Amino acid sequence: MALHIYRRHRRDCKAGYAEDSLSSEFDERKKGWKRCDCPITASGTFAKKYRRQSTGQWEWEAARAIVTSWEQAREWGGGSPTRPPNAASPESLTRITITAATQAFLDRISTKGFEPATESKYRTFIKQLRAFTDSHGYGYIDQLTITDMDRFYASWPDGKRAKARKLHKLTAFIEFCVKRKWLKEDISADLEPPEGHSIPANKTPFTDEEINRILAACGKFKREREPQPGYRQTSGEDIKDFIYVMLYTGMRISDVATFDTSLRLNGNEIFVRMHKTKKELYTWVPDWLVNRLRDRERLYGPRIFALSKSHSLSVQTERWRIKLQKVFTLGGEFDEPPVPHKFRHTFVRMLLERGIPVGDIAELIGDTERTLLKYYAKWIPSRQARLTSILKEAFSDRPHDSEKVLSMR
Ligand SMILES: [Zn+2]
Repeated sequence: MALHIYRRHRRDCKAGYAEDSLSSEFDERKKGWKRCDCPITASGTFAKKYRRQSTGQWEWEAARAIVTSWEQAREWGGGSPTRPPNAASPESLTRITITAATQAFLDRISTKGFEPATESKYRTFIKQLRAFTDSHGYGYIDQLTITDMDRFYASWPDGKRAKARKLHKLTAFIEFCVKRKWLKEDISADLEPPEGHSIPANKTPFTDEEINRILAACGKFKREREPQPGYRQTSGEDIKDFIYVMLYTGMRISDVATFDTSLRLNGNEIFVRMHKTKKELYTWVPDWLVNRLRDRERLYGPRIFALSKSHSLSVQTERWRIKLQKVFTLGGEFDEPPVPHKFRHTFVRMLLERGIPVGDIAELIGDTERTLLKYYAKWIPSRQARLTSILKEAFSDRPHDSEKVLSMR
């Protein structure tokens, strides 16, 4: 039974809408809508009885979560026969199901403008959390205790860094619930990231020699003999294009695998990410690369690196990972295990060596200047070398008048 939800404006409506007038989420998305904080109300029928009840919320996201919770329980908020013993003073809490709370959290995440790869990690995390709560037979978020969090955390098989990142997501989710009064307290406060989680992963870029070797290895890549229906055959040239984009944009493998020219490519500029200031951030690529990408677009449509019809980020990414690994193997011996992420590090190295300011590079890859200084210090040229390089670049296309100077003497 789906409930109907709308906002009912109060007499003292901040935006001045008429008392008892109604507005829907859809109405409020229209241009020029004035926001107010009148309460969102639900109406509908449970057990053949029609009722109207305020959700006590004024944000749609939170109201929807509560309403979903009521729908799942098939009763109006409040009393539940399965109230757990640990839910002290339930009056101050809004009872909400885990499904509704996690969905509301994901809705919030999707408004943050994260990169698709990051967003998909949040979804994976929520899936794991739901599997855990299902296995314990929990239906409501307030059934979770500190001990549950300890157990959940202890069950993660991940490495140190991955564990620390996942803990960050758990804390964010718990905080989200506490703020909305779905949880009484921060039950994840006791958890700490594993010792040594901040020791850097291998951030070593490829050397120029290694890059040349990898590009040459693309020439040795053999097409799969039998094309499978629904899948695109890949050649060494395809893999080269893929590598060039990683190398020239610093984008992650998943973002390149799902690259869409209609969304990312504009002239010589490639959209890399949303900046903190909500402005779009572009990187510049040379003509020859633009031409290669436009050629692909003519052949394959805007999703130039899609290897199958699947729109799944992980499916496309994994297929590319396998192909790149084949090329690495054809490329011979490497000092350190070659992984696709190293192209991103190489992008950083190349820009640093060119004297591009650290702050600019940090913005392009969406990292902080501090992290960059920490991990890439080795490739940051001395002040003098950087200045020289920037000056050389700045004067490279200026008129060269050396002969005249000589003749005037
Ligand atoms: Zn109002």
